[in-house]
Amino acid sequence: MAASIENAEVNIGFVEQIDECDKWKLHSAQFPSKLGGKPAWLSLNALPKADLMSCPNCQDPMIFLLQIYCPLIDDDEKVDCFHRSLFIFICKNTQCSQLNKSPNFKVFRCQLPRENKFYGYEPPLVKSIDLDLNFDTKCDTLCEVCGCYASKRCSKCKQVNYCSQNHQKLDWKYGHKSSCGMNNKTKQGACLLFDEAELVTEPESLATDEKEKSEEEKMTEYEEFMKSNKSHSFVSGDDRNLQKMALSDEDTDKVFKEFKKRVAHEPEQVLRYSLGGQPLWVCSDNIPNSGEIPSCECGAKRQFEFQVMPQLLCHLKLDKLENSIDWGTLAVYTCSENCSEGAIYHPEFLWKQDYS
Ligand SMILES: [Zn+2]
Ligand SMILES: [Zn+2]
Ligand SMILES: [Zn+2]
Ligand SMILES: [Zn+2]
Repeated sequence: MAASIENAEVNIGFVEQIDECDKWKLHSAQFPSKLGGKPAWLSLNALPKADLMSCPNCQDPMIFLLQIYCPLIDDDEKVDCFHRSLFIFICKNTQCSQLNKSPNFKVFRCQLPRENKFYGYEPPLVKSIDLDLNFDTKCDTLCEVCGCYASKRCSKCKQVNYCSQNHQKLDWKYGHKSSCGMNNKTKQGACLLFDEAELVTEPESLATDEKEKSEEEKMTEYEEFMKSNKSHSFVSGDDRNLQKMALSDEDTDKVFKEFKKRVAHEPEQVLRYSLGGQPLWVCSDNIPNSGEIPSCECGAKRQFEFQVMPQLLCHLKLDKLENSIDWGTLAVYTCSENCSEGAIYHPEFLWKQDYS
């Protein structure tokens, strides 16, 4: 992700499935951009505590959605952004999902200088066996179920840790009850997590050469793509919304027309990165004015950094209930000063726009 971001105006991201034997690529020491599974924390200490990670609506712990690795290495004044990652968490309870509101999301920014206590000065070697074997000893204690900061421990075996009572109960129910005290850990609590995959990015190309398809062909392709997703069982109920929109002939909304046109170039894009740029809104309703983007706690303004596209919903295997989790787009705004008080996880801002 890192190298290509600086010059291109927009980088677009895709979900790439990853084999079990390549899972090491998603380890913290490889500075991954990834979807689902447990977070690959950047700073291994000062992880956000349970109170920061709980949903303000239902108090359940939020679940890791995705992270992107987006260092700012060209900025000499920002030596502590040599490594830099953004993390999004979500509450999976559908009743916490609200139209055009984002209380069920959390975003954190974390950054580290090149010289730090967790990772080597040189880039990581690319073999799984080169991973730091002392990794676990450097890291805060993690929840067995969700991979977030754990302050609780199974009082019987004292071998497994949890972020919350909620996840302890869940793990007990799904396997720890029978494995408690034995050394083999169960992984069944992981049913709560989203499927793990890599996120890869490339510069967005809107150029058209001779071989390039016409705008019209691309639109047809995009509509085919949305239609074909309809036939897949993994599409959540609310994606029908998107399909309906994508297939409707009578778009009166200019913004949505523009959205479709732009996305048609790469119909499977799941995120768009453009630091200091503009999000691609899905419709003309509920676009924030600058006053609606809160400044950072440090006082600096926040700027747009990246957005999550509705296409990502197709990869989340959400249930098909009518009121499933849904979004038009999720726009993430981060501190323009990249303030830091050490390697902490700094809350940032997410704006959720739904289809009107
Ligand atoms: Zn909730
Ligand atoms: Zn947990
Ligand atoms: Zn136990
Ligand atoms: Zn700040």
